[in-house]
Amino acid sequence: MKPTRDTIAAIATPPGEGGIGVIRISGGDSLPIALRLFRSARPIAARRPVPRRVYFGGIHDPQTGEGIDEALLTWFRAPQSYTREDVVEIGSHGGVYITSRILRLVLDAGARLAAPGEFTRRAFLNGRIDLSQAEAVADLIHAASDKALQSALAQLQGALSGQLTAFYDTLMSVLAQLETTIDFPEEGLEFQKKNKLLEQVRQVREALEALIQSYRQGKIFREGARVALAGKPNVGKSSLLNVLLQEDRAIVTPFPGTTRDMLEERVRIKDIHINIIDSAGLRADPEPVEEQGIARTRAALAQADLALLLFDGSQALDANDETLIREVKDKPCLIIINKCDLPEKLDIKQLQAQLAKPLRISAKSHAGIQALIDAIYNRLVKENKPSGESTVITRERHRELLVRAERALLKTCRSIEEGLSEEFIAEDINDALESLGTILGKTIEEDLLDKIFSEFCIGK
Ligand code: GDP
Repeated sequence: MKPTRDTIAAIATPPGEGGIGVIRISGGDSLPIALRLFRSARPIAARRPVPRRVYFGGIHDPQTGEGIDEALLTWFRAPQSYTREDVVEIGSHGGVYITSRILRLVLDAGARLAAPGEFTRRAFLNGRIDLSQAEAVADLIHAASDKALQSALAQLQGALSGQLTAFYDTLMSVLAQLETTIDFPEEGLEFQKKNKLLEQVRQVREALEALIQSYRQGKIFREGARVALAGKPNVGKSSLLNVLLQEDRAIVTPFPGTTRDMLEERVRIKDIHINIIDSAGLRADPEPVEEQGIARTRAALAQADLALLLFDGSQALDANDETLIREVKDKPCLIIINKCDLPEKLDIKQLQAQLAKPLRISAKSHAGIQALIDAIYNRLVKENKPSGESTVITRERHRELLVRAERALLKTCRSIEEGLSEEFIAEDINDALESLGTILGKTIEEDLLDKIFSEFCIGK
């Protein structure tokens, strides 16, 4: 039986002034509580509004009868609501004072202030969505680009849950077959059946592997990519950064993440966010790449999904360039020759012998910048695309658990191949099931829920 829960309330709209404000109430008493404050312009028969119909009226202080605001009331009768409980939404004018005053009245009438994410937590606890979908709600709210939005929406609509549930069911049926053999050992696991089980486990394992691969892409969608600018002093790193910032007309907020010794700026390229790390910072005094400079470059490269390695086209390669080439050799990078507006002194052949084909740009005249932007995008988005697999995972929690499940299935396959006992095989499958179940929230761990829902705002 479902545990009875108290009635919670919160302001669901962001703090500040706006056209409207919404106070949301969820729980068994939400309707009687709301009707203590709300007077409908048209009488509500037997104090039972029609579910999901919007009623116009006003909010009054039930103690003093004082009018507070004009308001709209909508009742979502359980289970057809966000939380699957009775939910009332009161729409008022969007003033900070008005909404908090109405919330106060709702609390005085018997509701409790909701904790962050508690409405979504209830939707999960009441079985309307699974845990990965609840996480998608937070991702949808925090999404800062089209790609992030699309992947969060797909996850909310069950793209990931659907796949994982199918894998979960397959493994359950494998487990059931193994268990029959354990219970009736005289029958044993015959050769054909064994091969069939092995094939099923293999298929799930491969699909999990593809999902794990998608994390790199998913992380870029969700959090943006990190791109490091590397090059010797005076090569034009700051100039290029400024050009990219100018190109990004859609920039919303300047990114404050200036780490020690490193300048980090956020730009948007098409539909993803890029955090550009200028490893040398914006310092005026050029210093040799050796010593501190190289340490910073190394640190920037270690964190980056892609490095933009800059060379000065108006100069021959020097020892600083060589050091950088050595550092960056096996990292994903784009080779850029800057200052192409000046006569070329750099030996391109010498460079190309060591690295990939370079792109020529001028941070001064802006030549080649659009091609560079396209190249950055292609490297980060198109070339990272996992083949044929459209669901991407975006959270480290999911990746970790999928890796655990995948490892357990790898062990399972080996155990089946080596003809180990069914109990042994079943144990590994159980491990995999547990990991998949944790992603979906099949077993409820309060600590995990606290952690996940603390990311939410109050009212969601
Ligand atoms: P950083 O030390 O790598 O950050 O280099 P800066 O961006 O500070 O540039 C060093 C110098 O090179 C400045 O005087 C820039 O104006 C100049 N510079 C940068 N890019 C270009 C370019 O494409 N063409 C020319 N002619 N000069 C450039």
